[in-house]
Amino acid sequence: MTKNNLASEAFISSLSEQNSNIDRSDSKVALVTGGTAGIGAAISTALLKAGYKVAANYRSHTAVAEEFSKNTSIKTFAWDVSDYASCVVGVSQVLDSLGPIDLLVNNAGITRDVMLHNMSPEQWREVIETDLTSCFNMCSCVVKGMRDRRYGRIINISSINALSGQAGQTNYAAAKAGIIGFTKSLALESASRNITVNVIAPGYTDTAMVSAVPANVMENILKKIPVGRLNTPSEVASCVVFLASDDARVITGTTMSVNGGMHLN
Ligand code: NDP
Repeated sequence: MTKNNLASEAFISSLSEQNSNIDRSDSKVALVTGGTAGIGAAISTALLKAGYKVAANYRSHTAVAEEFSKNTSIKTFAWDVSDYASCVVGVSQVLDSLGPIDLLVNNAGITRDVMLHNMSPEQWREVIETDLTSCFNMCSCVVKGMRDRRYGRIINISSINALSGQAGQTNYAAAKAGIIGFTKSLALESASRNITVNVIAPGYTDTAMVSAVPANVMENILKKIPVGRLNTPSEVASCVVFLASDDARVITGTTMSVNGGMHLN
């Protein structure tokens, strides 16, 4: 575990007591997919700190989710965002528990890195369904309610590699680039209803996903980041808080890069 991960764990641990006593009855409701680990956990806790009632979704790591919930008082909900029927059930549980969803952050994502000539149809399908189809599944479950209430914020987490391409990631880059076109189109459909839809494209960020990258590969990646280091998860989370805020109400359909200058679009 790196120093940044330890720092965010210490921050998360300090949240439980201070948050359980706050009256959030008038607060906006945020739903963060993949919201119990890595960047998603930082987003969930930053939104909690900003005053939201937060629901954090995850798929399978129940022990991680229970620990996260214990340390933050954030409610967690398990379902697979790549499965439409599970999203319908999961979103209705969040509605019953916290009320109408004002902010959706589509953060859940996976990688299955392998060169195309060795990629199986399963590795292609898994990434497309988890990283891209999930955005359709989740947005279609919440956007109607947002339209009816004439308010909403949707933030989709893409990746630097959607913009730059990356060997070994044809599946991931295709899914993450698909998110950008999806976002622009939904933004155009939604603007008149006071709903903004934006993308954040993080560069390499200090989470478990990046810990899986071999050390020699990471050394080369670091040489290519002008600021000379990885993002921290909380730096990505701060951008979510901004795009969700009233100050960002005129920003829609855009892609915000958070990558230390590694790729300039
Ligand atoms: P992590 O692997 O640390 O966490 C991923 C989270 O997503 C976990 O909570 C996991 O839950 C959840 N998740 C995965 N699949 C599903 C699913 N089918 N249904 C519900 N939840 C699911 O990832 P990161 O924090 O590193 O990445 C978060 C997002 O940021 C991803 O979309 C990723 O592509 C993107 N990103 C990350 C970068 C990085 O350098 N870390 C760079 C650019 C983009 P569980 O553990 O229970 O399965």
